[in-house]
Amino acid sequence: MVNKKDIKILTELLGLEDVKVISHRLHGGIGMILQTESKASHSICPNCGTKSHKLHQNHRHIVKDLPFGEKPVFLEINRRQFKCEKCKRPFSENLDFVRKKRTYTKRLAHKIIQEVLENDIHSITSKGIVTTEEIERMLKDASEELSDSKPLNLKRLGIDEIALIKGKGNYCAVLVDIDTSKLIAILGDVYDGLRLRTQTIIRETLLEWGVEILERIEEVSIDLWREYKNLVAELMPNAQVVADRFHVMTQINKELDTQRKRERQNVEELIKKAKLADDKAEYELILEGLKNSKYPLLKNEDDLNNQQLNKLIQVKNVSPILKVMHELKEKIRKNFNKTNDWYTGVFKLGMWLSRAKKYFPNSNNTIIRWFDEIIAYFDNGTTSGKVEEINNKLKLIKRSGYGFRNFENFRVRCLLNWH
Ligand SMILES: [Zn+2]
Repeated sequence: MVNKKDIKILTELLGLEDVKVISHRLHGGIGMILQTESKASHSICPNCGTKSHKLHQNHRHIVKDLPFGEKPVFLEINRRQFKCEKCKRPFSENLDFVRKKRTYTKRLAHKIIQEVLENDIHSITSKGIVTTEEIERMLKDASEELSDSKPLNLKRLGIDEIALIKGKGNYCAVLVDIDTSKLIAILGDVYDGLRLRTQTIIRETLLEWGVEILERIEEVSIDLWREYKNLVAELMPNAQVVADRFHVMTQINKELDTQRKRERQNVEELIKKAKLADDKAEYELILEGLKNSKYPLLKNEDDLNNQQLNKLIQVKNVSPILKVMHELKEKIRKNFNKTNDWYTGVFKLGMWLSRAKKYFPNSNNTIIRWFDEIIAYFDNGTTSGKVEEINNKLKLIKRSGYGFRNFENFRVRCLLNWH
């Protein structure tokens, strides 16, 4: 039995403009079903804009809405078809609260997306309100709305890459607004060995922004990859290229780590070949000092705990070359971190190069090749730490993103996180 008072209350509770509840029923195990209808008796033809009152057909179907307490709520909606008298053709009415061909209301999609940003997909589907397919559809719709927006006030752009699955060699490119710390785009997925593809995808995205936006960009922070440098020169004529200091440090650390491994191998060889027990004991002491020294050597010295600091002292005692290399690594890191005056920065970097030539031949060459772009860092004080910050957040999403079936979902989730 339909009670008028109940209907009025339910319509108010539902809170959807232009919609009234006609009847309600409660199904055990399923939830509440509200039959609804539009208040208006007409609709506007999307083709010619004429108001039409001529009902052609009723199209009733059920969509999911926000739950009421713990109870799932379904709306039986009627997306009516009207016949336009001017066009002589039927059209189906536009409903503000539910997109065409969707099985849920817009406000439910909005709520679910918020939840996806805080949890993983599994914990949401386990509540039984929406399915994985529906969540993916919601994310895709949201992504399409997002991709229409362009970075109109972008001045400093950061281009970087993050590994999607560690060790598998697939990367995606990340575009970041350095001034606002916002993720602009995430493009991929890009496979190692096919890095040129990243460049192509980035290029297409940049071209879509248009000349006006590109010409306004003053600075682009990139990793040490020539193709990116060429891309900036080609598309962003007014931008200064700044080499990302984090990538310089990555290379230096890599070289330090290679030396650490080499030292260990050498000592192990010596132990094998040692004929005198005294010699052998001495080498074993060195090996002991080298063991477990990777993180103490590579991590920023300021971030080491007491145990790691002790290990660092130990490894420096047994290996003079690692001692020098570690000190050089810390020196250049501090120069990047603490110097914000161009002359001092460049002078210190020059000093470093002359001292490090013997110990870090590869990094030395890289720095010389990218010298202009690296010292531009001191010029503008651009800290790509912002890019790094965003990358760390992306990694968090990636880790918590268990349940994302494909890259697209990961991408949308990341974008929504910043917009
Ligand atoms: Zn019409």
